[in-house]
Amino acid sequence: MTTGPATGERELRGVAVYPDIVIGKAHLIDRSSVKIQYQCFVHDEDVDREVARFKEAVKTVEKEFTSLKENMPDRVRDQSFILDSHLMILRDGMLYDSTIEAISEERINAEWALKKSLEEIGEVFEEIDDEYISNRISDVENVTDRLLRTLSGDTGHCLGEINQRVIIVAHDLSPADTTELNTAWVMGFITDVGGKTSHTAIMAQALEIPAVVGLETATSLVKDGDLLIVDGSAGVVVINPDDRAIIHYQEKKLQLQAYRSSIARTSHLPAETPDGHRVAITANIEFLEEVTAAKDYGGEGIGLYRTEFLYLRGRGFPDEEELFEDYREVVEIMSPAPVSIRTLDLGGDKFASEVAISGESNPALGLRAIRFCLREPEIFKVQLRAILRASAYGNIQLMFPMISGLQELIDAKEILGQVQEELDRDKIPYDTGMEVGIMMEIPSAVTMAEVLARHVDFFSIGTNDLIQYALAIDRINEHVAYMYEPFHPAILRMIRQVVNAARDAGIKVALCGEMAGDPLCVSILLGIGIDRLSMNARAIPLIKKMVRAIPVVEARADLKKIMGLSTAKEVRAYILEKTKRMFPELEEKGYILD
Ligand code: PEP
Ligand code: MG
Repeated sequence: MTTGPATGERELRGVAVYPDIVIGKAHLIDRSSVKIQYQCFVHDEDVDREVARFKEAVKTVEKEFTSLKENMPDRVRDQSFILDSHLMILRDGMLYDSTIEAISEERINAEWALKKSLEEIGEVFEEIDDEYISNRISDVENVTDRLLRTLSGDTGHCLGEINQRVIIVAHDLSPADTTELNTAWVMGFITDVGGKTSHTAIMAQALEIPAVVGLETATSLVKDGDLLIVDGSAGVVVINPDDRAIIHYQEKKLQLQAYRSSIARTSHLPAETPDGHRVAITANIEFLEEVTAAKDYGGEGIGLYRTEFLYLRGRGFPDEEELFEDYREVVEIMSPAPVSIRTLDLGGDKFASEVAISGESNPALGLRAIRFCLREPEIFKVQLRAILRASAYGNIQLMFPMISGLQELIDAKEILGQVQEELDRDKIPYDTGMEVGIMMEIPSAVTMAEVLARHVDFFSIGTNDLIQYALAIDRINEHVAYMYEPFHPAILRMIRQVVNAARDAGIKVALCGEMAGDPLCVSILLGIGIDRLSMNARAIPLIKKMVRAIPVVEARADLKKIMGLSTAKEVRAYILEKTKRMFPELEEKGYILD
């Protein structure tokens, strides 16, 4: 979006990535000059040469990624898994084999074949209704882009050579590009494309430099040398600002910095309300590499380890050893804090080519998660064995996803029991007291909560799915996206019902959907009585700070009023007013939006 200039300046709005502000000169990265010869047929006798050219390009890029990984600056070393995933993509069958196949069978040049593979992968990713995973297509695009540049003879590695204090303006920056950035010189960056969960955004956060992505027109509106203000807290970029704007943003920068350090200073304190009520705050992770960040942000454990990633790489299913090593490392790093490992949630929106369940007209209601695992017990057992073996190295809690009723839970626990017997027989150690819980994310499970509570050690409420299923909203359907509403009174009642059932049975209840990390939900969840909130690690410091400021008696009193409201709009208005009053700085710093 562009707003009109009053003073010759111009303002663009995009996706805020890292809440800091920088003012400096634009350095435009123009890759449009790279000439790539896309479509051309090759003669039969040239096919082998074309395949060899492609293989050579893969090897070159492989070397580049490996060297970037080895020379990664310390503070982004935690993110080296991004380059690992790029290396995996390079040799992934869907990219590598398909490109070679297309060159050989269709007699086309390497660039064209590569583009075709990318399009096919794009179609597969489009089907995925998981923002994080579907955004991973940008990784494939970054790898392909690097390969295309290598094939065209353009090395284009000018980023590492920047030796002036600048703000990078680019159509897109791959994570490999960001790794090359010398942050002694590069003060921030803005891009036309990208979203909140793109790896470029993740890297900006790791590098802790202001960035705004998804600006759409930045490269066409900004000229090299323009003065820019990048406000990574509000997602705003001002081109050629006047003095007033510069003073305003300098002031805002100072305030933001002070606020961030005040939050960070206390992120290792417990989340205890002023009247002494404790809530556990844990992190959600998708990869082993995120564990250290979870700890650094003050996470008191891992409340949700989504284990699908190792199954979604398109390299065949991981074996028990690979899974065991991965889980053991997570658990050892976190020990003695707990790690809740969720068993496979494949199917529906998250699928692997090995288990593509075709022809489901309604995949969200299809053979996903525990349903799939019960249908394929051999695949399930491999994961259960790995989890149990890792449980000997720390504090694992096991969670079954998408449980709809007691029979499913009984069936899942029976398979778990069989695996435990096998381990006993083989004298392989595991934690015999390992807690077993379930995700509460299907309305039928909520209705049966009091029955289910007698069969598990804990509940973890998955509000992302619970909202989808309770409000009958297909999350891939943008026409009903506006109805995706955590403040719907029905959702709040369901959460309360689960908590009451857990209380009565004397078990703990966690909440690990997006609601847990939403500043607007903190007071409600405190009032309802959730024992553990599990969220994106970066949200932890702020949520902890808020918990420490809200007396639980007040949250309970508010909840009573909220439960008397009949629409989501009323609930939202109430909570917005209350949160703004209690934490006026949050709105101003871009942490809550109306
Ligand atoms: C949920 O459904 O709320 C949840 C945490 O699981 P996922 O987002 O992985 O489905
Ligand atoms: Mg879920």
